[in-house]
Amino acid sequence: MRNIVIAGSGVLGTQIAFQAALHGYDVTVYDIDNDVLERGRATLIGLGEYYAKDMAATPGQIDATLERLTMTGNLGAALANADLLIESVPEILATKIAFYEKAAKVAPAKTIFATNSSTLLPSQMADATGRADKFLALHFANEIWKRNIAEVMGHAGTAQATFDAVTAFAGSIGMVTVPVHKERPGYIINSLMLPWVMAGLKLWADDVAGFKSIDKSWMVATGSNFAPFMLVDIGGMNTAYNMFSSLAEAYNDPLVAKAAQRIKTEFIDNGLLGAATGEGFYKYPNPEYLSPAFLS
Ligand code: NAD
Repeated sequence: MRNIVIAGSGVLGTQIAFQAALHGYDVTVYDIDNDVLERGRATLIGLGEYYAKDMAATPGQIDATLERLTMTGNLGAALANADLLIESVPEILATKIAFYEKAAKVAPAKTIFATNSSTLLPSQMADATGRADKFLALHFANEIWKRNIAEVMGHAGTAQATFDAVTAFAGSIGMVTVPVHKERPGYIINSLMLPWVMAGLKLWADDVAGFKSIDKSWMVATGSNFAPFMLVDIGGMNTAYNMFSSLAEAYNDPLVAKAAQRIKTEFIDNGLLGAATGEGFYKYPNPEYLSPAFLS
């Protein structure tokens, strides 16, 4: 594999693109309009600072990474010589299917397609790819450079060669790879983590406690430096809204639905989209939960 295409220049798409380019791949990032691409380009440049701070990446490595990254709004041009397409468009089944139907028409037969979906199953999208045997899920975690896990999950029709090639690719960009043996919404990580975040959101939506009290309780009691609302901010409000709206439906849980609705009306509608844009539940770049006083 040489040429990697990332579809979607949002929170995760930019991180996957940067990580792959840092490891020497030629990466093309595709998104739907020029304004979004401009924002994506700025995010990529900003990611360099995190790699410098957290991973001791040198200015030379960061410059070389940015040189290997190309942005485009032309899907046909992006995919013309793609070995691997990693789709990281919004967590809405219809959006993903529409994207795959377009990509299937312009991608060469050799291109492997992988979805970074957090909660959907590859079998729900396989037909739209026109290459079910060359399609699977490759799921990354937010802050990919530090939380470098990659879950690889096929559907019943995924070829073993595809599974092996994608696992090898993920390893080559510094990921710890884990095979998931059968389809499971949420893979391993989100099967563990989402019920926990959902429990926090339900306490908040039901006015049992404020979000800071919920985060603080968890952190003090368990010694963890991670808490539910922090995670929602880092993942971004749009993703949280999409994900918890569909989980509310799946679990028929009115409190989860209420939490998703409050995320929309109190945050998204006011332009507060989470850590990446400066404010969600907390204000960034110096959120309160990083201060020792938060736990006192
Ligand atoms: P995001 O909203 O930050 O970014 C989505 C991007 O996709 C936007 O730039 C949007 O313009 C673009 N887009 C929309 N329609 C498109 C199309 N048809 N073609 C190309 N681009 C299109 O979302 P995100 O948080 O990066 O999530 C993307 C995917 O990654 C989702 O499936 C999500 O479940 C998954 N994921 C997210 C996280 C997280 O913590 N945010 C973690 C792991 C996986």
